[in-house]
Formats: sequence, C-alpha cells, structure tokens
Amino acid sequence: MDERVLTDECLRESPREECGVFGVFGCPEAGRLVYEGLFSQQHRGQEGAGIVVSDGKVRSLKGLGLLSDAIDSAAAAALPGDIGIGHVRYSTTGTARTQNVQPLVGETLDGLWAVAHNGNIVNAPHLRRLFQDGGSLFQTGTDSEILLHLLASPTHRFRDDPIKSACERMRGSYSFLIMSETSLTAVRDPLGFKPLVMGKLGEGRVFASETCALTSIGADYLREVEPGEIITADRTGLRFEWLDGAGRRQARCIFELIYFARPDSLVFGRNVHQVRVLYGERLAEEHPVDADIVISVPDSGNSSALGYSRKRGIPFDLGFIRNHYVGRTFIMPGASNRAMQIDRKLAPLLETVKGKRVVVVDDSIVRGNTMQRRVKSLRAAGAKEVHLRIACPPIRHPCFYGIDFPTSDELVAWKRSEDEVRDLVGADSLGYLSIEGLLSPFEDKGSYCLACFDGDYPIEQGSNTKEVLETGNFLPEP
Ligand code: SF4
Repeated sequence: MDERVLTDECLRESPREECGVFGVFGCPEAGRLVYEGLFSQQHRGQEGAGIVVSDGKVRSLKGLGLLSDAIDSAAAAALPGDIGIGHVRYSTTGTARTQNVQPLVGETLDGLWAVAHNGNIVNAPHLRRLFQDGGSLFQTGTDSEILLHLLASPTHRFRDDPIKSACERMRGSYSFLIMSETSLTAVRDPLGFKPLVMGKLGEGRVFASETCALTSIGADYLREVEPGEIITADRTGLRFEWLDGAGRRQARCIFELIYFARPDSLVFGRNVHQVRVLYGERLAEEHPVDADIVISVPDSGNSSALGYSRKRGIPFDLGFIRNHYVGRTFIMPGASNRAMQIDRKLAPLLETVKGKRVVVVDDSIVRGNTMQRRVKSLRAAGAKEVHLRIACPPIRHPCFYGIDFPTSDELVAWKRSEDEVRDLVGADSLGYLSIEGLLSPFEDKGSYCLACFDGDYPIEQGSNTKEVLETGNFLPEP
C-alpha cells in the first residue's frame, strides 16, 4: 500500500460541513425557536453559532464552537422579540474567530441589518478591494460581510429594492437570511446552489437550510425558496421579488444530497435518505460483487449501504461503531494525533467482519487518507476481503461555492485511475457511482451542479470582475 497520502497535514474524513441558517418572523419566543432550529442543523457547522432577535430593538448572542458551548439556551430563550435569525458556521472563508461568527450585524443610515449566509461569494475579494479602495473598513474575514457593505452603499440603499439591488452585485452561491429591526428577508441565488426552505408556524413564517429544522420546532413545511427568489416578511405581510437571472438555469449542489444534509430532511424537494438508498441500489447494479455482508461508514454511508444490501440480497450489518465523544479530527495538532483521532472515531466490530468478505459503502472519498485507515482497520480485524463502494463519482475538482474541498492535487482521484485509487487505499475492489447514476433519481437532470466531478463550473471563479472593474459601480458613492 502506498502510504504517501497519510502524510497530509490535515486528515479530514469527508468533505466538511458548510453552514446552516434559520429564521423566524411573527413567532413569539423567537430566541428559543432559533436556538432549536440551529440545534437541529448543528451538523452543518460546528465552529461557531450566533442568534440575533428583534422586538424593535436588536439583540444578539454568539460564540465559538458547538451551539451548546457558544450560546446558553436559557439566555437565547430570554431574548425578547418575534423576529430572529441564526447561523451555525463552518468557515469556508475567514478563520475561526468570534468576529467571523454570524449573523453579522451592521448599522447603516437606514437602521440595523443582520445577515446570515450559507454559500460563497466568488467575487467577494474583488468587491472587498473596491470598497477598501473607497475607504471602507472590514470587521471580519468572511465573504458574507460584502452584503452589509452593499446594503450600506448609496448605490443600493436609495433603490426601492435595496436587497435585490445589492444581491445582484454578487456572484456565487448564497442563501441569505437578512433581518432588520422590523422585517426578515430570505434570498436564494439565481442558480440555487444552496438549499433554503420556507415553513409556517401559527401565523408566523420560518426559513431554514433544511426541513429537519422546521420539524424540530413543530413548523409545517410550505415550499423551497426558489432559486433567485426574494421573500420578505414584515408587518404588512409577505412580498415576493425575483433576482435577475432567476429561472434561466439552475445548479443545485448535489453534495447536499450525497453527504451534507440530514437524512430526514427534504432537500431540493427530495427526501435525503430515500435518494441515498437509490444511490446504493444503483451502485449494486453498476458494481456488483459477491460478499458475505454489507457495512456502512456511519453516518452518511448508512442509507446507501442499506440500498446496496437490499438490491444484492446481501445482509446489512454494523461493521463500524462510532465513538460520538471524539472531537473533530482537524483541530488536533500534529498528524499522528489526528490519525489517532480517526482510529478512535470508528472502531471495526470484530465479531461482524472477522473472516468475512465485506462490502463497505461510504458517501465519498476526498483525500483518501481516512479510507486508507478504515480499510487497514478492517483487515486488522480479520476481514477476508474489503470491497469499497462509493455513493458518488470520483471527486477530481475543488469547489468554489462553499464546500471545503481541497485543491485538485490534494484530491486522491485527481489524475488517478480508479484502479490506482483502489491500490492506494488498499481495497480488493473499488466501485464509484457513475454520473448517470448520480442523476438517476431526478427528472430535472440539468439543474444540478456537478463541477467537483466533471470540472464544468456553473460560474467561473472571479467572474464578473471585468464588468465590475469596468463599470466601477460597486464603489460606494460619496
Ligand atoms: S462543485 Fe460540488 S460541492 Fe461544490 S457546489 Fe458544485 S456539486 Fe456542490
């Protein structure tokens, strides 16, 4: 086995989480509800959490780490108001420091704005530079702060629709919740990369990245916020607007369904668990193998392993036991510590795998180092054969839209054949789901982003820069 990939300084397990947003309007006890909504979306980000609530006066709580460490639930529940937004953060831009924890709050001549963002603004560096050239001071290292500067800019704030005008200056992926003292606005970028849904609680409205957050507070799911749609709730009711480019083309991030979202959520209108089961069934058709048991790499491999098992008629069993008390691997200093953390996190169940031909189903392989250790641990536990089945195609390209994939040359499948990856991770066989298989559950096959698999990016990194520089109309006017 080639050990080269184990020398990576960061032994991350999977593509890492991004962010989760949650907001309520017209719901008494907004602070308590937002806390609950964030708690059920903790899987989307563990670096920091924040809550902003308004009763006409805006108050906020935020901190680093898991929600329960960052914010006291009783303090959140005590925040007065019926409008609130919250955010759980995983940093795709900016480091883990309190200033970068969202919602970001800024005071403009029109009052306070608070913003919670899931996604990545690809032209943020250029916009930031233009604002800085005009004398603006930035308080955070995040791309999301750009929206506050745009909202404060005379170019946008004198418009009838400042949020629409500001959002149309940004390129990239964004699902935003934007709160003022008296309103809440939900916006999804025209390509619809990131999920955003709307629900109802009593007479109030609720917005969330995933439907599991609606369920957690007893809200009813109404529908997705459509790509390019702007929904504003205020004391006069609901208003609906559309961003330029809405309805032309969509590029939903298919990794939400593969890995990020919770299995009990509806994402892009589909139940995540059911889609993953279909992926497992399709994997069984595309890459059948004779084996004694099917096991999953928990938790995101569970549903696909079930599908593979059912389709092939091979019993599904627990092959790895997860230790839920192990911290995140990437914060451990030193490669040997991180490797130890990976081994601690999942322990092979000897009684299940010993002497068996084992099919292992996982959602994806990113760098390959973690999978290498998993295969090694199964062999050490006595597995006779180890056959890997991966419920997505090989990841060969980085993501610019908010998912923390490394650069191409850190991806194990970059410039490697599937046989080379198989040898590298030490498996007896390796089968990836095809692109056709990935799209097979959907009728609207052209509306998904597949860039990390095929390199066909819906937006180029830094696009619109030329237009911005030529028009110069991002510069705040004096
Ligand atoms: S490149 Fe991959 S991870 Fe990034 S938005 Fe597209 S499908 Fe999602």
